[in-house]
Parts: sequence; C-alpha cells; structure tokens
Amino acid sequence: MSLPKVIIIGGGFAGLAAARKLRCAVQRGLCEATLIDSNPETSMVPALPDYAAGLIPHDWVTAPIHKHLPSGITFLHDCVTGFSLEKKIINTKNHNISFDYLIVALGSQSAPPPDILQNTTTHTITNIADATVLKKSFDHLLATSQAPSVVINGAGYTGIELAICMARRATRDNASLDIHLVEQREDIMTFLPPKDQQRVLRSIKRHGIKLHKDCHISSVQNDKLQLSNGTTIISPMICRAEGTVAPVSAAEQNIPQLYDGRIQVQPTLALEGFPHVLAAGDAAAFSIPNGYLRKAVNFAFYAGAHAGMNVVRALQNRPMRPFKPIDLGWVIPLGNDSVGQAFGSLPLKGKMGLRMHYVMCGYRNYSLKNFYKLLGHAVRAGT
Ligand SMILES: Cc1cc2nc3c(=O)[nH]c(=O)nc-3n(C[C@H](O)[C@H](O)[C@H](O)COP(=O)(O)OP(=O)(O)OC[C@H]3O[C@@H](n4cnc5c(N)ncnc54)[C@H](O)[C@@H]3O)c2cc1C
Repeated sequence: MSLPKVIIIGGGFAGLAAARKLRCAVQRGLCEATLIDSNPETSMVPALPDYAAGLIPHDWVTAPIHKHLPSGITFLHDCVTGFSLEKKIINTKNHNISFDYLIVALGSQSAPPPDILQNTTTHTITNIADATVLKKSFDHLLATSQAPSVVINGAGYTGIELAICMARRATRDNASLDIHLVEQREDIMTFLPPKDQQRVLRSIKRHGIKLHKDCHISSVQNDKLQLSNGTTIISPMICRAEGTVAPVSAAEQNIPQLYDGRIQVQPTLALEGFPHVLAAGDAAAFSIPNGYLRKAVNFAFYAGAHAGMNVVRALQNRPMRPFKPIDLGWVIPLGNDSVGQAFGSLPLKGKMGLRMHYVMCGYRNYSLKNFYKLLGHAVRAGT
C-alpha cells in the first residue's frame, strides 16, 4: 500500500519550518513528503533591500533549499502554475502531482505594474531573483550615468527601505544619486503613531530622498518620466513597491481570499471544507481580533511549523490544534535609524531597533555562517 503524500509548495520560512516538523513522520513511515520551489535557494527576504542596493553580498542572504531540508523529504525544483483542492492535484511547469495533504507556503510576489508602466522596464524586490536583476541594473546605472536617478513607485516600508539603502550605497560610493519616492496617498505609514511617522519622514529627508505624496506617475515617454505634480525625471531606473499578491491561486474560485490573494484559513490553518489543505506564512490570511496577521518572518516560521505539526496529527488520526501566534514585534530599518515595537507595546527605535532587525535577519538566516555575517552588519548598523 502506498503511503499518504504530503506536498509543501514554497520553501521559504513557512515551507521549510513545515518540512522540519514532518521529518519524524517521514522517518517513521507515516507519509512521504516533497517540497516544491521554483528557486533552488531560499532567501532572507527582509534583507533584500540591503542586497539589491549592493550593501551586502548574495551569499549572505541565501541558502540552498536541499541542504536545509530534513533527510527523507524530497526537493523538487519546479514552478507551481496552479493547484486544485478538489482534484488534489498540483500543476507545475513539468509535472502534475497528486497529494493527500497540501501545505500552501508560496509567500507573495509583487503586484502587477499599474497601466502606465505596462510597457516600461521596471524592477521589483519581493524575491531573490527580482532583487538580483534590480541590483545589476542599479550597479550599471551608478557605473554609467552622469546624473543617475531612481523612481520608486510606492512608499510603504518596502519602498522606503529600498530608497534608503540605495541612498546609502550612493554615499558609500561617493556617487550623486537622485531618488524619487512616489506615493499616491496623501500620507505615508499612516499605521504608525505620529511621532514615529515624523521619524520616518526625517530619515527620508536626511538621506536626500525626494518624497512626492498625493502624486502618481502620469507619463513615461522618450526616457522622460513625468509625475502628476509636474516633476520631470530624465532616464530614471524605475522600481515598483506598490504591494504584493499571491503568486498562484487555487483552481477553485469559491475559496475565501483577501484582496491580495491571501487564502483565509481556520484557526488550525486548514481551509474550510478542505481539511487536508493548510496554508501558512504570507500565503495565509489568519484572522486576529483587529484584522489579519501581518506578513512577517516570525509569523511565517511559527505558522509553517504549526501547519507541519497539524498534518502529522492528522496522519495519526489526532485532531488538529489551533494556531496561537505570539507577536514578538517588528522593526522598520531606516539606514542609521529605525522605528518599531517589541512584544506589542515596547517602543524600539534608533540603533537598538536596527540591531534587533539585523540580529533577527541573521538568526533566521539558515546557517551559523550567515548569522555571523549579518551580526557584523547589525553591529555596524547605524554607524
Ligand atoms: C522587502 C521586504 C522586507 C521585509 N522586511 C521584513 C522585516 O523586516 N521583518 C519581517 O518580519 N518581515 C519582513 N518582510 C515580510 C517577510 O519577508 C515575509 O512575511 C516572509 O518572507 C514570508 O515567508 P513565507 O515563507 O510565507 O514566504 P517566502 O519567504 O516569500 O517564501 C515563499 C517561497 O515560495 C516560492 N515560490 C513562490 N512562487 C512559487 C511558485 N509559483 N512555484 C514554486 N515556488 C514558488 C519562493 O521561491 C519562496 O522560496 C519583508 C518583506 C519584503 C518583501
């Protein structure tokens, strides 16, 4: 008799944590398990702005997935193009794979470009492949242009972090760089308390970044980019940070999802009506009293581990347990400053916040070698 097949799609924080929980079940012959990822390397996504701007090298933020999978779990390097929860089939570029249990851990990817940028070369930063392309273009821009300029569309934390990292790289290289951060809303980071919001604005200004609020890109023609406030920028490199969506959706149209494609899950992380399918990390919309769990490394890590544990429980005919997330806090790095919060209420700012950010990046960064490298970055942070 063949063993139940568990498939994990996505080998980021959530997918790898799920795989680790399945190790015992595989070794005890309860199931066979495969993890599928379109990338042979997993990456430390929060450090991608530093990497894309050329502040830290590629090998500090990546690790081969096969080396981080527990023995007995198969790695399939392939791109998932669709999956059906009813038919229990995953479609990849090269295969159609059946499953008995599925853990969806595909993370998120950049939203498609706005209409005005449909036919223009733009760069994004939500995964290592895109960040590498962005880095090459940025290196080329700094090396070849007399008056380099960058436009970043979207001033959420990703756009702000990228702008600040690029400004720091230009300072390090003694290059003059014009950075424009474009935000269509009237204000930025409105979820922050006013004091922290001001801190972010001061950091943007201190790094020489031009922030255009209540503004959008109105035309891109013959190397000239025009903003709705009348600003004209010549031959800019254009980066996009307008938000994220799910990389792949389920074939079934009636699966409850949020506007950004996150799949709504039950407290056990299983999908309503599909107890054999669980979602974790950025792929999942996990309900909390004031909305949904935010996208963050620690939540992805613990939810992935929980999803893996619940699949093991189901294999043993034991009931699944509800996921109880603990909020360890968050930090937005701002070059030589930061804003953030620890344990839901403790304010974090300045160098302390920066160091916490890079220590967290190092701690979750796959190997002791990467940890020490990012620890060095943490110690130097803010200097
Ligand atoms: C620029 C940036 C900065 C951030 N900073 C922070 C921070 O400071 N602190 C924090 O806590 N969080 C931060 N986040 C959020 C955090 O990175 C995510 O919440 C976390 O990475 C989610 O983990 P995950 O495992 O769900 O997805 P990911 O880590 O994104 O992993 C998803 C995996 O799925 C794979 N995949 C995607 N599509 C396919 C496909 N079609 N087929 C096969 N495989 C596929 C990818 O290759 C990837 O390996 C940041 C995010 C970004 C973009």
